[in-house]
Amino acid sequence: MKTAESTKTYTELADAAREFYRRGWVFGTSGNFSMLASREPIRITITASGLDKGRLDDTSFLEIDADSNILAGSGKPSAETQIHQTIYRRLPNVGSVLHTHSVWGTLLSEDRGAIEIEGYEMLKGLAGVTTHEHTERVPVIENTQDYTALSKDIETLLADTSIHGFYLRRHGLYTWGETVAEARRHVEIFEFLFEVLGRSSGRPDSP
Ligand SMILES: [Zn+2]
Repeated sequence: MKTAESTKTYTELADAAREFYRRGWVFGTSGNFSMLASREPIRITITASGLDKGRLDDTSFLEIDADSNILAGSGKPSAETQIHQTIYRRLPNVGSVLHTHSVWGTLLSEDRGAIEIEGYEMLKGLAGVTTHEHTERVPVIENTQDYTALSKDIETLLADTSIHGFYLRRHGLYTWGETVAEARRHVEIFEFLFEVLGRSSGRPDSP
């Protein structure tokens, strides 16, 4: 776990986590972050459970296999590791999965089956989107502590390859990318758009 490559990986994930903490998207040890260390066989570098996301360093990460056995690092993987595993298994091009708990996303997820976002220039920050005339649908699925059942629901959801993320109701956002940088950009784009939708929903002319 001390190769130059893995140190770079940790730094990228730790930098993203620190910035997300600063923005208030991963308070109270919430959130988790991972990247693919190997595709064949699947090996994932992921944050150990229960850590302050504003203070991650090289000792904060675990390397795990496809069954979440720990190959390197100390600590234990979060219960939500199964969700990361499902995303990597289902989407072969994904190299990083990031999960945040923000105020605006939480509020928007309360009473709808999907968060729909359309007509904003910032949508072009999502991979493959080339115009603001795009409708991005972020499915909202029920939160549960049964992560095995939840992973099955997510597996089904990911058959729709047009989505860039999904939301666990009153819980948090999962998004991903081919690289940590792309996944981080997706978090920033979604959190920006969630805040815009949240702030505009109280206006007299809002839908
Ligand atoms: Zn969470």
